[in-house]
Amino acid sequence: MFDALLAEKSEDGLQSITLRRLSEEQLPPGDVTVRIEYSALNYKDALALTGNGPILRSFPIVPGIDFAGTVENSSCLRFSPGQKVILNGWGAGEKHWGGFSGLARVPGEWLVPLPSAFTTRQAMALGTAGYTAMLCVRMLQKQGVTPDCGDILVTGATGGVGSVAVMLLARLGYNVTAVTGRMEEKDTLLSLGACNVIPRQFFEGQIRPLEKARWAGAIDVAGGKMLAAVCASMQSSGVVAACGLAAGMDLPATVAPFILRGVILAGVDSVYCSQSERLAAWQDLAALTDPAKLESVTTEISLLQAVSEAEKLLNGQVKGRVVVKVA
Ligand code: NDP
Repeated sequence: MFDALLAEKSEDGLQSITLRRLSEEQLPPGDVTVRIEYSALNYKDALALTGNGPILRSFPIVPGIDFAGTVENSSCLRFSPGQKVILNGWGAGEKHWGGFSGLARVPGEWLVPLPSAFTTRQAMALGTAGYTAMLCVRMLQKQGVTPDCGDILVTGATGGVGSVAVMLLARLGYNVTAVTGRMEEKDTLLSLGACNVIPRQFFEGQIRPLEKARWAGAIDVAGGKMLAAVCASMQSSGVVAACGLAAGMDLPATVAPFILRGVILAGVDSVYCSQSERLAAWQDLAALTDPAKLESVTTEISLLQAVSEAEKLLNGQVKGRVVVKVA
């Protein structure tokens, strides 16, 4: 038996989340069973737990898009009992039972071995947000953005993806400008490695098709008008790695930055990203993460606290990363 958060839907369509005692037979099929130690509270988890977005696709379901733990049973040749593993995405916590649970059963091809540099707690302190930040940094690198190209902009900088992106870029020697709606967190962002911190309002006025060319690269978690404004202020051949929609799903932009400055808008999807890219991203995270800095932006909560914390995250009252202690 193990504890899990279970999401159910009543006949009148109302979603409920309760902490339940479940048995192994209730788990969905899969060739690897993992004893979960930590999960994380990501933006998508917050949408799922509060019912604010159509994240959960079948009921009943255990939410939680990521986890780290120890293999208990495996009929997959790549994994054996006792091995530490990580899971991010692949529909876990959306279509397949996910990480807010003491035990999970998943296909072995979804799992990544835990890099030896990390404990399971550190891996989830990074979690899907940190792994996505790394995918975004790798996207800038693949498109040829090097530290000497110019400044890099990171939006939503006090959030999960943003704060890890600031740390990683600074560690790689980039000049980082952090955008935040919480200027009171300026010192925290400078301590993570940002060179400049600017308020979100900088991008909120009337946007012209082309603004002053400022950034060689950008990592955007916001979408909406913010992403349009970021695109308009990129340098020639600048690259925007876009991964989020914290400000909105729309993109009220013109083609001017793309056809007049050769700006590249590169989308980043962590959920169905290839296994080779995942492995490379986790290896890069292991090499670049400063454990003390990561800990400074990490808060730990219990399974039971996840629902109330999800409300706070969507209200912009959570900063950095939230790990969920499961075991
Ligand atoms: P967080 O809630 O931790 O951070 C989001 C941050 O965005 C906030 O902390 C805030 O930072 C900023 N923000 C909030 N509202 C607005 C707004 N209206 N305009 C501009 N900025 C805003 O979430 P995560 O970092 O975990 O995720 C960020 C986004 O990335 C989400 O949309 C999420 O769904 C997406 N995502 C996508 C993935 C993918 O595979 N493509 C994977 C992981 C996440 P501040 O106060 O500093 O401005």
